[in-house]
Amino acid sequence: MPEAIVVGAGVVGASVAFHLAERGVETLVVDREGPAGGSTGRSGALVRACYPTALEADLAWESITGYFEPWGDRVGGGCGFTRTGFAYLAGEDRVEALEHNVALQRGVGVETGLVGPEELRDLDPALDVNGVALAAYEPRGGYADPAATAVGFLRAARDLGARFERRRVTALRTGGDAVAGVETETGVLDAPVAVLAAGAWSAPLASGVGLDLCIRPARVQVALFERPPGLRTHLTIIDSIIGFYARPAAKRLTLVGSRSHLSWLDDPDEWDPEPDADFPNAASRLVSERVPALRGAPYRSGRAGVLDMTPDGRPVLGPEGPEGLYLAVGWSGTGFKKAPAVGAELARWAVEGNPRREGLRAYGLDRFRTGDLVFGEHEPGVQTPH
Ligand SMILES: Cc1cc2nc3c(=O)[nH]c(=O)nc-3n(C[C@H](O)[C@H](O)[C@H](O)COP(=O)(O)OP(=O)(O)OC[C@H]3O[C@@H](n4cnc5c(N)ncnc54)[C@H](O)[C@@H]3O)c2cc1C
Repeated sequence: MPEAIVVGAGVVGASVAFHLAERGVETLVVDREGPAGGSTGRSGALVRACYPTALEADLAWESITGYFEPWGDRVGGGCGFTRTGFAYLAGEDRVEALEHNVALQRGVGVETGLVGPEELRDLDPALDVNGVALAAYEPRGGYADPAATAVGFLRAARDLGARFERRRVTALRTGGDAVAGVETETGVLDAPVAVLAAGAWSAPLASGVGLDLCIRPARVQVALFERPPGLRTHLTIIDSIIGFYARPAAKRLTLVGSRSHLSWLDDPDEWDPEPDADFPNAASRLVSERVPALRGAPYRSGRAGVLDMTPDGRPVLGPEGPEGLYLAVGWSGTGFKKAPAVGAELARWAVEGNPRREGLRAYGLDRFRTGDLVFGEHEPGVQTPH
């Protein structure tokens, strides 16, 4: 019998499994598909530490410096991390917030700074800086390959003794007040610890043990365009003025996503994985306003994915409900880049009874009952994917 079952082999479940296995915990990962079959495989996978809370900036920074950058030594193999430099672009109305947030990020060690429009153009001459009042620039930001990251964690976990089984979990099992394992379509699995990391599909499993995760599934899209030969690469950017994000992809492509195309779903299994017919044109218009060289760039492909949105756009983490149950759900579109450090925290929590960062306790389910939602002091609202 395994000592822990991780439900979900997305980047979060795979990271938790890797860290549990590193701690010598006999771990079984179950997923109804292969690894990265959920939101992870469809992710934009931007990697940056630009967050409005110190805790999230710290988790993202540790993920960059402790995992994405030294991936081969830390995890093994490759995760496709590509350092392009990252810039968050703000208009006049967000200058004060950006100043505050960059100071907060620097306070936890993030290598970041403020740049004006001229300096931004010097950093990336492909950008039209019209409307940019200020930007945060992180030279060590970029993007990674989301499927390779999840598969890499899982492979490393298996090398450390963890097992993976393709099974659909139908219920969490309890005995008295404690977790007893999971029920699957193909039989019962026993374990005293279960980590629920099934993304947008977690809610029905949690409700079976009396927990309302407050997760609302939402569909988002990205489109990929072919860069013209004159545009070798560009920064990874979040443009809060025009309202999109973009990063290079592969050798010649640029990936573009936008928050304005988020749509709510009644059922996370009922969604179209192809982008809407009008999405590529809309994404093209947005990105070429900021990167004029991309005007008319040929559309090559696109995809949609499902997010697990919570009321404050932040995950639900840690022990909840029956003893032995740990939640790592509700990422609200920002889970990829933080998964490495969060996996380490969840594994520690399950083994030692406490996380290294005490601030993670504020990310429990209770906050939705008490109204103590997690927001940065300077934050325009709930975060959306990037
Ligand atoms: C288009 C898009 C762009 C994004 N861009 C970014 C970005 O730039 N940066 C960033 O940090 N984040 C981004 N995100 C969000 C990020 O990808 C997710 O937060 C992250 O991948 C979530 O990982 P996860 O492991 O929690 O969930 P998932 O990857 O969804 O994994 C859940 C797993 O659970 C499995 N599962 C579900 N139900 C069951 C069941 N009953 N039994 C067994 N297994 C089950 C699924 O098959 C799946 O493999 C983006 C997401 C999308 C869709």
